[in-house]
Amino acid sequence: MDYDLKITGGTLVDGTGAAPRRADVAVRDGVIVAVGDCPGDAARTLDATGSLVTPGFVDVHCHYDGQVSWDPTLAPSAMHGVTTCVIGNCGVGFAPVRERDRARLIALMEGVEDIPGAALAEGIRWQWESFPQYMDSIAATPRAIDVLAQVPHDALRVFVMGERAVAGSVATDDDIAQMRALVREALLAGAAGFSTGRTDNHRSPNGDQTPRRRPTRASSRASRGRSRASRTGCCKP
Ligand SMILES: [Zn+2]
Repeated sequence: MDYDLKITGGTLVDGTGAAPRRADVAVRDGVIVAVGDCPGDAARTLDATGSLVTPGFVDVHCHYDGQVSWDPTLAPSAMHGVTTCVIGNCGVGFAPVRERDRARLIALMEGVEDIPGAALAEGIRWQWESFPQYMDSIAATPRAIDVLAQVPHDALRVFVMGERAVAGSVATDDDIAQMRALVREALLAGAAGFSTGRTDNHRSPNGDQTPRRRPTRASSRASRGRSRASRTGCCKP
């Protein structure tokens, strides 16, 4: 057998900027080994007549933070050609989280991203508290596409400061030290980075500002701490 997979009859858009063209694609051992006519046998052949054949898309801004716990396909992104999605955007997400704050983070996600809180409350299979545990829970499920997770500022702030984060209190030096340590721990566990949001349009369902939007010196100081954490070399883009 010459190939493991051959995709035939499609219109190839190869991502280089070249004009679309009619071409077959052959794969062996997970690597594209031929493009064009691809003579030879394949263990599996896909007829792509009438379809575009493209490299996978990387979706750098999506919000599967909850769905990732119950949907191994991550629909509909997978159906649109996405092969890697980045979650934890805009400062909202679900790790780290204490059990008492789950509903609070769901409400923030609903307010900021318009994802129905009822669907999240019904669907999320909480199997984590820390960010590394969240990473482990994602890794434990085989899925159709790859996932990169960022540490969301709101979840981090609520985890460390609780009610004070929601009330807009200034983070203490101890709060900042804890946030730095948690970001470092997450990066070492494989987090892709840290996210926050700076738009006034991001609100909780009752119209309040999100925890990260409070203009406190803590935010910038925590961000500097995150920068120092990434300079340790534990965060490789
Ligand atoms: Zn977003």
